[in-house]
Amino acid sequence: MVASSLKEAPLGLRSRLVISVIGLATFILIGWSGLLAYKGVETLRGEAKSRTAEVLRVLSVPSEIALAERRIDSLDAILSGAQRSNPDLRWIAVLDSEGRVLAHSEAEQYGRRDDTEFTRLALESGGYVGKSVDVDGEPRLLAAMPVSTTSEVGSIRWGTVMSSFSMAGVETGVRRLQVNLALASILMLGVMAGSLWLLLSRQVIKPLSSLNAAAQAIREGDLSARIEPPPGGVDALDELHLLRGVFNEMARQVEGQTSILEGRVARRTAELEAANSELARINQRLSRAVARLADIAKTDGLTGLLNHRSFQEKLSLELQRCLRQEHPLSIIMIDVDHFKSYNDMHGHPAGDFVLKEVARIFRENLREVDVVARYGGEEFAIVLLDTPKGAAGLVAEKLRLAVQEHDFPHAADSQPGGRLTASIGVSSFPDDGLSPAELVEHADQSLYEAKRRGRNRVVLAGEILSMLRK
Ligand code: GH3
Ligand code: MG
Ligand code: MG
Repeated sequence: MVASSLKEAPLGLRSRLVISVIGLATFILIGWSGLLAYKGVETLRGEAKSRTAEVLRVLSVPSEIALAERRIDSLDAILSGAQRSNPDLRWIAVLDSEGRVLAHSEAEQYGRRDDTEFTRLALESGGYVGKSVDVDGEPRLLAAMPVSTTSEVGSIRWGTVMSSFSMAGVETGVRRLQVNLALASILMLGVMAGSLWLLLSRQVIKPLSSLNAAAQAIREGDLSARIEPPPGGVDALDELHLLRGVFNEMARQVEGQTSILEGRVARRTAELEAANSELARINQRLSRAVARLADIAKTDGLTGLLNHRSFQEKLSLELQRCLRQEHPLSIIMIDVDHFKSYNDMHGHPAGDFVLKEVARIFRENLREVDVVARYGGEEFAIVLLDTPKGAAGLVAEKLRLAVQEHDFPHAADSQPGGRLTASIGVSSFPDDGLSPAELVEHADQSLYEAKRRGRNRVVLAGEILSMLRK
């Protein structure tokens, strides 16, 4: 809507106003000059008629005397005198009551009977008659007047004097008058259009243009745009001045409100950004704490190895993979021998130290991929990936020896044989079981068997099974 109303009009406001006013003025001027022309023409033609009537009236006096005295011959001299003194007079004649030519400025017309409509009218009329005619392109006025004597007794009509006047001079005057009036009208219209154009430009269009420019600047975001007063000063009651004041006040309020709003938005944005970065910091700390919690939940606090539950999960996972890929897998269960007496003699902290050392020995003697867990108390569990029973037995033996050969503090004082040892049970997939529970159970049984046989040794699950079978 707004865009379409702002479209450029085919003609500007100034042009439309000027065209409207000039159109109206043209209309009035045409009417007025037409009236003037009509009146002027009427006057010119009226004067011409009066002049002809006067000529005829003057001529009728000697004609009356000549006719009354029956001196027809003298009429010629009267007529030719009249023609000489009046250059517009084309011909002049005196007719009798029948319309016969008694005298004529053109000699060949004598004796002819004139029987035109105008002649009949002239013979019947008691006064002046006139008629405009065209003779070979020349405008003429036919005029006639009775030649009569009027007395108290009555009136005697001697004849009729008739003439043909050229109206070319009069018509030229008429045309000149019309042309002059038209030229004056055009000049007046031109002056009027120019003055109107200048007046509208200065008083209306310029103020409207500055209003338009300021409104557009505000629409495009420049809220500081204002309408400047014209250089020549203003009348306080000028409507455009009032409009300018209202517009400037409106723009000032919009600018003020906008800057308040922008300030608020900036403050809120800064607060929001601060809150966001604080939230991000808290989130980071939380993620770290969650990760740490997850680690804590998975690991044993004393040794840093996986705990019992993580061992079970890891074992299930790896066993499924071995089932799919048909790879072997072994588990080793280790229990520290006579640990209770060590604990009892040297105290719990010393026992804890031993457990940490044992864990370290296991980690050092195993591959990175092997899973090492504290199964509970002084018992450890290990998953050897891709390891068949034979190799697992060797690893178990290596671990047993490593423990036995390590110099634990105070071991000589409390442990049988003076050394800290461990008993180990081994079970393997798929030989000793296909599920985690089966494998753990068989490794446990092997460990128990190792204890039973005197401790500090490795027992493989197969041995027990074969023993059981025996
Ligand atoms: P065996 O050779 O039959 O395994 O004898 P043992 O004494 O090792 O077996 P027992 O199960 O009777 O004793 C285990 C001891 O391990 C009991 C407890 O004092 C000790 N123990 C269990 N967990 C911890 C622990 O986290 N720290 C310490 N310091 N000692 C523990
Ligand atoms: Mg033990
Ligand atoms: Mg035990």
